[in-house]
Amino acid sequence: HAKAAGKRTCMCYTDSMAVDLRRRAHLISSLRRVVERGELRLVFQPQQVLADGRIDAVEALLRWDSPEHGSIQPDQFIPLAEDCGAILPIGEWVLQEACRTLAAWQRAGVSTQLSVSVNVSALQFLRSDLTQTVHAALTQSHLPPSALELELTESVLMANADVATERLQAFREMGVSIAVDDFGTGYSSLAYLHRLPINTLKIDKAFVDGLQLSGDSEDTTITTTIIAMARSLGLLVVAEGVETPEQLTFLQQQHCDLAQGYLISPPLEADACLRFILDVQQHTARHALAQPTTH
Ligand code: C2E
Ligand code: MG
Ligand code: MG
Ligand code: MG
Repeated sequence: HAKAAGKRTCMCYTDSMAVDLRRRAHLISSLRRVVERGELRLVFQPQQVLADGRIDAVEALLRWDSPEHGSIQPDQFIPLAEDCGAILPIGEWVLQEACRTLAAWQRAGVSTQLSVSVNVSALQFLRSDLTQTVHAALTQSHLPPSALELELTESVLMANADVATERLQAFREMGVSIAVDDFGTGYSSLAYLHRLPINTLKIDKAFVDGLQLSGDSEDTTITTTIIAMARSLGLLVVAEGVETPEQLTFLQQQHCDLAQGYLISPPLEADACLRFILDVQQHTARHALAQPTTH
């Protein structure tokens, strides 16, 4: 009896593994055709300057609406796309689409100061032709290099220190900014960071989640330390995943440069994001105009 039950358990286990493998294979074969089938779209999440309320940048975030699999989160399909190499054409599409969108927004009246941040995966970054892909995307949209920032995770930079320094230098020379994403989770040494030609640190949401105004949590200490470190290295610092007014107040008190998160805005469709940016632009312009009359 026990033997039969054991055997049944074992069979269920292998069955579900087979289902997982089949789903994985099916997802991968769909991912290979996702660009030409037009199943991808970008949403955009504003980053707000804490000192004056301006929207200085937006992060482009990828969405996949698959007719066969439904809506799949990037955390689920990007690792798969990375494993099978599909991330290369996908990443190229993301760069082109992000640049096209920003150029269209500029024609609709968005400040030329606004930049777009694009997430770059490990495989994409390690391929030597990324600089050409980036250059082509900018040229096709008639955008200057300063309009684009690339986001690389701290762990990608850490795992490939030598190649990373060389690649980042090429972007520095080109004039494209680099942000270190999910910062604080990857154990970078200060000496290593100091050598890297980067512009921005993005404090991981995990630390922002634990921020307390009373200032006595571990996350509060880590956040304060990252902000101080960014300042001393001459880097901009962005807090990710800001959800509460208390977190925002704390970040303002600590002179964090920018905030991104649901409190400011969730990721928005291109049209909705354009309206959001134009609204804030109008509001901050009125504010700036109103100031001289109060003297
Ligand atoms: P990430 O680059 O760290 O992006 C931030 C993630 O946090 C996004 O998730 C965003 O929607 C979410 N987020 C922003 N504010 C809040 C908040 O206040 N609360 C909460 N709970 N979440 C917030 P998303 O869009 O699901 O993307 C997940 C990850 O997938 C990204 O993390 C990035 O690593 C990757 N990814 C997204 N788009 C691309 C892409 O085009 N290329 C590559 N290589 N990776 C991408
Ligand atoms: Mg990012
Ligand atoms: Mg992040
Ligand atoms: Mg990330």
